[in-house]
Amino acid sequence: ASSSRTYFIGGNWKCNLNRKEVIDLCKGLASTDTSKVEVLVAPVALHLALASELLSKTKIHVSSQNVSATQKGAYTGEIAPDQLVDYDIKWSIIGHSERRSIYHETDAVVQAKVKNALKHGLSVKFFIFIIVCLGETKAERDAKKVQEVCLGQLKAIVGGIEKNQWDQVVIAYEPVWAIGTGDVCGAKEAQEVCQLLRFAKILYYVCSNINFLKDNVSGPVANATRILYGGSVKADNALELIQQPDIDGFLVGGASLKVDSFGGIIKAC
Ligand code: PGA
Repeated sequence: ASSSRTYFIGGNWKCNLNRKEVIDLCKGLASTDTSKVEVLVAPVALHLALASELLSKTKIHVSSQNVSATQKGAYTGEIAPDQLVDYDIKWSIIGHSERRSIYHETDAVVQAKVKNALKHGLSVKFFIFIIVCLGETKAERDAKKVQEVCLGQLKAIVGGIEKNQWDQVVIAYEPVWAIGTGDVCGAKEAQEVCQLLRFAKILYYVCSNINFLKDNVSGPVANATRILYGGSVKADNALELIQQPDIDGFLVGGASLKVDSFGGIIKAC
């Protein structure tokens, strides 16, 4: 958390909630104070329009949980970025570990999705913002491969982003072993990885190119990009995590399904 970056709290509803539950949750969120932070919710595709309408008088963003790597066309089951934007859905989560592990999305697929989504920022009519997720599994952490895995995933993501598109990007560090397990990553460990991501050469390289002619030391992109932590975040562990210098908010799964718990996390921030 740095005073120059606005806290960002995303609720990833995953494949949960029926119509009535979406209505109740949106009504509850509409009367939650979100004035000091940026808040986003990601319902299943079926509920995007409904949630968007219910939250239209609030500042809360509505996001898809996935987006196609392709344009409109003969791609059964996919949703293209311009179709999202057409419904005023300007955000998408990309590369969540459940997409990676259950639906076999590789780094190359994640990169293609990132590229395709951001491409619309190039034409003035469309603008899409993305939360791109990365993180290591338990086996990778045990094998001391956190750095290698996370930087490898970040490299693929960075490869899909033009230098002028970084203000459309939020990164979420979500260690796979902490997702949905109640086994939250220690604040120190989460900070370590978020700091690594922020100041890794790979981001630094991008920054250097932005100010290619200037002598820059830390780089505007690394300093401006929000890096979230995700994995078993709850109201009672949010405070310690958000106090870490390189954690700028959260991507929340289970605890985002109830107004009380999600509201508690927003309040902690
Ligand atoms: P969780 O999920 O909060 O239920 O652990 C986080 C996520 O998958 O984004």
